Amino acid sequence: MESNQQLNDITQRFVSFLKARRLRKTPERMAILEEVTGCGSHFEVEDIYTRLDSKGYHVSRATVYSTIELLCQCGITRRLLFDMHQSYYELTGRNHIHLVCMECGRIKEVDEPEAGENLLQMRFPGFSTSYCSSIVYGVCSRCQRRARAAAKEKKKNS
Ligand SMILES: [Zn+2]
Ligand SMILES: [Zn+2]
Repeated sequence: MESNQQLNDITQRFVSFLKARRLRKTPERMAILEEVTGCGSHFEVEDIYTRLDSKGYHVSRATVYSTIELLCQCGITRRLLFDMHQSYYELTGRNHIHLVCMECGRIKEVDEPEAGENLLQMRFPGFSTSYCSSIVYGVCSRCQRRARAAAKEKKKNS
């Protein structure tokens, strides 16, 4: 959850962005922005759609998608592709590392002020860097516990 001041700044930024592009500041777009800033972690288009829907706020998935795209263009959010099939989004401006469990697919975030700084400084011929996201693959504590319990069970039964 962002602080009130941060939230005001983000809202201001989005409003100016819409104005500059001659796009309307619709209640739907502002409601989506509010949900996005309240997320605190990664989200999918579907998450925002569901959250709004459960509050009785009915906007189409297409509107949620296009608004999040606008937020990305505005630099408020960015798109993450942990795999090529599913887009996740998150607020920009927080340096952190993603720990991805190869067993269950859970993604944990660890705050790390230096995360990605070195990669951002690097230049790659023929490639224009937009941003970088650090991903570390491994096995989460829950899956390790499950594996240990399964191994113990197997030993007992053999
Ligand atoms: Zn796991
Ligand atoms: Zn993240």
